[in-house]
Formats: sequence, structure tokens, C-alpha cells
Amino acid sequence: MAHVDRQAWDVVVVGAGGAGLRAAIEAREAGMRTAVICKSLFGKAHTVMAEGGIAASMGNANEHDNWQVHFRDTMRGGKFLNQWRMAELHAREAPDRVWELETWGALFDRTADGRISQRNFGGHEYPRLAHVGDRTGLELIRTLQQKIVSLQQEDEKEFGAYDARLKVFQECTVTRVLTESKSGSAAGSGRVSGAFCYERESGRFFVLEAPAVVLATGGIGKSFKVTSNSWEYTGDGHALALLAGAPLINMEFVQFHPTGMVWPPSVKGILVTESVRGDGGVLRNSDGKRFMFDYVPDVFKEKYAETEEEGDRWYEDPESNRRPPELLPRDEVARAINSEVKAGRGSPHGGVYLDVSTRMPAEVIIRRLPSMHHQFKELADVDITAEPMEVGPTCHYVMGGVDVDPDTAAAHGVPGLFAAGEVAGGMHGSNRLGGNSLSDLLVFGRRAGLHAAEYAASLAERPAPDPLQIDAAEAEALRPFSAEDTEDTGEAAGGDRVPAENPYALHQELQQAMNDLVGIIRKESEMFEALKRLADLRVRARRAGVEGHRQYNPGWHLSLDLRNMLLVSECVARAALEREESRGGHTRDDHPAMDRHWRKINLVCELADPQGDSRAADPALGQIRLSRRETPPIRRDLLELFEKDELAKYLTDEELSR
Ligand code: FAD
Repeated sequence: MAHVDRQAWDVVVVGAGGAGLRAAIEAREAGMRTAVICKSLFGKAHTVMAEGGIAASMGNANEHDNWQVHFRDTMRGGKFLNQWRMAELHAREAPDRVWELETWGALFDRTADGRISQRNFGGHEYPRLAHVGDRTGLELIRTLQQKIVSLQQEDEKEFGAYDARLKVFQECTVTRVLTESKSGSAAGSGRVSGAFCYERESGRFFVLEAPAVVLATGGIGKSFKVTSNSWEYTGDGHALALLAGAPLINMEFVQFHPTGMVWPPSVKGILVTESVRGDGGVLRNSDGKRFMFDYVPDVFKEKYAETEEEGDRWYEDPESNRRPPELLPRDEVARAINSEVKAGRGSPHGGVYLDVSTRMPAEVIIRRLPSMHHQFKELADVDITAEPMEVGPTCHYVMGGVDVDPDTAAAHGVPGLFAAGEVAGGMHGSNRLGGNSLSDLLVFGRRAGLHAAEYAASLAERPAPDPLQIDAAEAEALRPFSAEDTEDTGEAAGGDRVPAENPYALHQELQQAMNDLVGIIRKESEMFEALKRLADLRVRARRAGVEGHRQYNPGWHLSLDLRNMLLVSECVARAALEREESRGGHTRDDHPAMDRHWRKINLVCELADPQGDSRAADPALGQIRLSRRETPPIRRDLLELFEKDELAKYLTDEELSR
């Protein structure tokens, strides 16, 4: 067995975004020695990029708001496919998590009378997003980091070392969650025993031993060509869970945010926050028409304005008017923009126009949307106080993820594995409402940390990492350095030497395939084609090769990430092919209607061959096995929060009569 450095911890948290940091704080406060590991610099995570705000029914801007209304909006946004218990816990606990941040030093924007200000967002009945301008995520991460520093200062006083009970490993990547081997083979599916990691700068391998691992690795956007996600988001946590033996659910639901930048090409996909519409921005096509009025679906008709005048009045008088359709949930707006562009009514660069310049004075725009003003000026030479922006859909968020227990965030199937934040599935159903991610991170990050700590403390004996697994993880990580020598098992079988594949070219092909074939509008024939291309890419990715050495070698890092993106992409494509209806972030051209019989069905993805990776080399075989599972019936008191007429749009007659 190779020599790999090992360190023992009680809880290892993979990811230092909002979910990871909140989990780490909780685990450390429960007395556990906690390690946090993150792929990029500490503080650089998607959470820090969050702009619009954090959803919590504090009732500051409208006293009628409460957790029940927030729960209702979340279920409507997710088209009732949400794990309802998660949606309930989230709505109940979000206000406490926001208050808690203020006790740790956060300072949200204020109303005139000194309360936390709350802004409108799509799908939220009342203004509900606590915010700090359009840089809310920055304040959230800054506060959580500050809390971590204060805990480390306590440890320095008590133990003489800042990282005695809470240590951050930055610019380090986890490639495998280790488990206790059941059979003595390299693929165990027993209890968690730690994580196999490499340091990006030096290429050094190390193992963090721990009985509990919390996955908080965020999203999968880098599998798509046009995305708001940054380089780290290669679906690592999703793949780590699968490889350790934990299933994923709802992977067909991928959110395409309606408003990403479309020009210039170098910035295509970068997010334009929903706050622009929340604060009064409107969408127009090339004829100057506010087209969203033509796209209000039946399920939302009663709640949205029918005329521009009514929509505009709503900003001043929300009690007597209905909201403008620019504030429909994201899936509806993204599809509408897609249709306008397809119908030839798009902007010169293939988007539509988003305008605040005619809606607010310049100084208000600069005060309320400083990042957007800066972003467009710097990146596109557009002054949003004087001219409209060009925007179009961009892959933004994955609703699917690790199948977790709602209360404890424990992953099914692998004792000691927990997941929180974007990597966990269920909470948002088929479509997430804006602002519901930041609150999700805090609510379930805390729960994951708490239960991981309880689990670790409850063990009489710590599971030992399996040496065979460590060896296998090391060999897997080193494979890109000897890719040329790898024997092809495909068409050129027979021991021929085949050239290595360029990881960047493979990545581009993958992104193009996912964008074109499993994107915002899906068709059966295209998804079959996607699965074929993914299978081919998977075989070629086993020969992804790099030159040079292990010291800071981004090509090597990408070669390793490809495994994860391919696994996750197959989950998305297989589940999207299976679900023959359109709902939230899954639109089928060939099955355009929402089907009530599909509502309670979760598609579960598992590794087809958990004992090895033999299938990965064979293009004829998929790596993912799909099964169906029903969501438990929604609790009666929660159902009673809705009118029966509304429920009839989502639930089958049989469910209703029950
Ligand atoms: P992240 O914050 O994404 O952090 C993931 C962490 O995991 C990172 O530290 C990363 O380095 C680490 N990691 C990943 N893989 C590995 C690995 N293999 N090994 C080690 N570490 C790893 N949501 C809202 O609610 N409101 C908003 O206003 C909002 N605005 C947004 C704006 C933008 C531009 C984007 C991209 C997203 C926005 N979202 C918003 C969504 C929200 O920010 C994310 O869903 C959320 O931050 C995810 O948080 P997380 O803690 O799950 O993961």
C-alpha cells in the first residue's frame, strides 16, 4: 500500500459555501473536531456570488407573511413535487437562521423603521428576501467565516492552536468518500470512514479519516455550455455520493435561470439577478412588447396581472393588485424567453430585452443594483441606467441531488454520509424559487452538522478506512498521467496503444451535448442521442491524459472532474428521458403537459455496478440504474393550507378523495 498522509477528524465537511460552513459551525459547536475542505480558495463558492437575497417569512414588509405562506409558495414553485417535510422545515426555520446571522455580525439592508428590509422575487407572494444590496451572498459568507474565526480563537485560548477543533483545507479536492469495506474488496458500501483528497497546488494526496462526512459541494452547471456556474461546479458531491453507494433523486430537474448575459460571447451565461425584475425591471421582445402577459399558465392565472397597468400598480399597492408576470417562477419565464427567441422576436444576440432604465431613476438603480450596474458596464459596455440589457436563459441550479432524510440530512444507504445545500435533492421539487437556496443552505446546513456530530459521537468504535480503497483512489487519480498506455477496450480492442484524449476537448463536447440535447426543451430522440454521446465520451474520458507533473496542473484536475460530470450528466439524461411529462425545470416537447400521476413519482439514480467500474469502459452499458419511488402523502394539516381547487391541479382524484 502506498504511503498517504492521514489525519483523524470527527466530522469532515466537503465544501465551504453556505451549507458547508453552517454545517461545520454546528458540528464544532457540538464539540466535534471538524475539518472543512474546499476546492477553491476559502470564501470563493457560489454562495458568495448570490445576489438577490435570502427568503424568510419575517413579515417585515408585509405582516401577512408567515411560514405557512412561504411553504405554500415553495410547493407551488416546485409544482408539488417537493419533499414536503423539507419544504416545511425550511419555511419554519428560515427566519431564525436569518436572525442568527445578525447575531453573528451580519447587517442586512433596513426598512425606514429599522427592520430587516425584504424584497420581491418571482413566485413569493409577499416581499420576502432579506438582502444586502445585490451582494447578499457576500455578507452571508463573510459572517459565517467570521463565526469560524471566532470559534478558532476560542480554541487557541483553550488548546493553544487555532485549528485544534476546526480546520479549513483550502484548494484541496475530494475525489472519493471512503467507506468501511464490507467484503474486503476495493468497493465497500459500509459506513463512512473518511475522504480521499489531493492538494491542488502540490498534487499531494491525503486522507481525512472521519466517521461522518457532510457533502456540501453545490451544483453541476459546468456540464452545460451556457451556465452561470463557475469552474468548481462539476457535480463532485453528486458523484461522490453515487460512488459511495448513495442514490440521487430528481436529477431531471435542472433550473435554467431566465436571465443570463448573452453578449459578448466571453461572458455568455453570467447571471443577471432576479432582483432586477423584483425591483421593477420588465422583459420586452424586439417589437417592444411586454410578452410575459402572453405566457401566464392556467395554474397561476388568478395570481398574476392581466394588464401592464395592473402589474405596475402592484409595486405600489400589492394588496389591491396582482403581480406582473415577469415575476412568475423561473421555469415559466425561461420557457417564455426561449419561445420568443425561437419565434424570431429576439434581440440581436439571441436574447430578449430586460429594462430598468425606463422604470427607475438612475440613482435608485445604482443604489439597489450596484453589482448589475458594474457588471454590464465592465463586461458589455452597457449602461443599465440608460439602456436595456440583453438576456437569455442560462443553466443555473440543480434541483436534484442526494436522497436525504428531511430531518437529519442523512444520505440514504450509506451510514455516516450527510448532504446539505444544492447537492441535496428534494427540497425544491421540480423548480426552486429565487432566494430559497440561501435559506436552504442555512436550515439544512445546520441540521446536517448537528446530526453528523450526533452520529459521530454515538459510535463506540470508529470505522477504519479500507487500505484497498485508498490504493484504488490513488491509482484512479494518477491514471491521467499514463493515459496513452491505457489499452482501449472499445473498437480498437486487442491491446492497441491509443493516444490520450484532451480533457478540455472532452469537456467542450460534453457541454455542447448537454446544452443541445438535454437543455431547456427536451425530446425523446435527442435524449437517446445524448445518452449515446455520453457513453462515447465516458469511454474516451478514461483516456483523458495530461502532460507534466502534479504541481498545480489544471488539465489534470479537469481530467478527474470529467468522471463526475459524466456520471451526473447520465443521471440527468436518463431521468429526463423517463419522465414523460413537463414540470418545473423539465420540459418535454413531446409531452408538454403536466401529468398529475407523475407528481408523486421520484426518479432514483443509483450506480449500476457498485462493485467496480467495469461498465465505465463499455459504451453499450450505462453506469446508472433508474428506479421509481413514491413520495409519502403530504400531511393533512399542510394540505389544508391550499384551496381544494388548487390541489386538484396537482393531485390525482384518488389522492384528493383520500
Ligand atoms: P456552494 O456555495 O456552491 O459551495 C460549494 C463548495 O464546495 C465550494 O467551496 C467548492 O469549492 C466545494 N467543492 C465542490 N466540489 C468539491 C470537491 N470535490 N472537493 C472539495 N470541495 C469541493 N440563491 C439564492 O437563494 N439567492 C440568490 O440571490 C442567489 N443568487 C445566485 C447568483 C449566482 C451567480 C449563482 C451562481 C447562484 C445564486 N444562487 C442564489 C444560488 C446559490 O448561490 C447556490 O445554490 C448556493 O450558494 C449553493 O450553496 P452550497 O453551500 O450548496 O454550495
